[in-house]
Amino acid sequence: MLNKKSVDDICVKGQKVLVRCDFNVPLQDGVITDENRLVAALPTLKKLIADGGRLILCSHLGKPKGEPKPELSLAPVAKRLTELLGQEVVFAADPEVVGPNAKAAAEALQDGQVMLLENTRYRKEETKNGEEFSKDLASLADIFVDDAFGTAHRAHCSNVGVTAFMKENAVGYLMQKEIDFLGNAVNNPARPFVAILGGSKVSSKISVINNLLDKVDTLIIGGGMAYTFMKACGQEIGTSLLEADYIDYAADMMKKAEEKGVKLLIPVDTVVAKEFSNDAPSRIACGDIAPDEMGLDIGPKTRELFAEAVKDAKTVVWNGPMGVFEMPNFAAGTIAVAQALADIDAVTIIGGGDSAAAVNQLGFADKMTHISTGGGASLEFLEGKELPGVAAADNK
Ligand code: AMP
Repeated sequence: MLNKKSVDDICVKGQKVLVRCDFNVPLQDGVITDENRLVAALPTLKKLIADGGRLILCSHLGKPKGEPKPELSLAPVAKRLTELLGQEVVFAADPEVVGPNAKAAAEALQDGQVMLLENTRYRKEETKNGEEFSKDLASLADIFVDDAFGTAHRAHCSNVGVTAFMKENAVGYLMQKEIDFLGNAVNNPARPFVAILGGSKVSSKISVINNLLDKVDTLIIGGGMAYTFMKACGQEIGTSLLEADYIDYAADMMKKAEEKGVKLLIPVDTVVAKEFSNDAPSRIACGDIAPDEMGLDIGPKTRELFAEAVKDAKTVVWNGPMGVFEMPNFAAGTIAVAQALADIDAVTIIGGGDSAAAVNQLGFADKMTHISTGGGASLEFLEGKELPGVAAADNK
């Protein structure tokens, strides 16, 4: 269990509470296309409202790079949250985030009322953890609650800097839940414990592979990163994704797996095409891939192999798609893994990002134990790193 002060340990009645949420949701023409992160924030918000807190919510959205960008305003989030909470969420439309509108709205708050600040990344100090913006944010409230797991791997003003200027710093229910699920899976897993890693690059998952090899019974590697492993086994991989600088590393990891008695599985067949296009004619390659072909998905034998490998698992952590799942013709491997996890009786944890999007899109969300709201944060957690956003909260 996370040993940090939580919303159950603070008294918020009549207090102004600055709540850092992760409202970094995808928007298309001002419409929110995936509101999972808003829904995930509701338990903490409802608890603080019921306890009579005066809530000042804040979040970043996209990458406005330190200046106001109307298309990245949080105004649509305030509107949707008003509907989801069933009460008004006042939007403070200040280009400088903590400006006259925000200050006036914060002063006017009554117990149980809610307001939302403008995108914290409109301020260039935000991502540099600058003191001035941290103090501005802190000046609005008495207590700070961080529920933004998706940002926990970053030390920014609105999740870390601000804590230096607050009387009390607690974490919200979402943060607690994320850390408890991921922490239990990694440090105290029901066994067999299987990790499935995919996505494009070995280089971005080096530390995860290394750390997980100390914990898991089976490590499955698919997606673009598998080709560097296949190359390390002496296989021809054509024009598939390759990180030549990491071939030795892949070989080292396979050796480490063998020494530790960890089963390490890589694809035995692949779906290959001559072009990176959904419409490119494809075929199944077993073993070597021709010089003018690239692997874009795991093949049918691999799908069976991976499904078999998780069949008796009691804990599974999955991060990264098995192929170029954005193209329907190369999504079958990712769908097969999602289906395999949906079918088993195990703790199944989806580590955010693309795999979470795939599971949600495919309608398997309610079959998984936990779908993380933070891709980067869950990956850094799986690397064994301490997340600055979590460390900054007061200990119990
Ligand atoms: P990452 O951000 O590293 O988790 O990688 C996710 C991306 O990997 C997705 O956009 C996938 O399309 C891509 N990907 C997965 N498999 C392959 C592959 N075989 N070739 C190229 N890209 C891939």
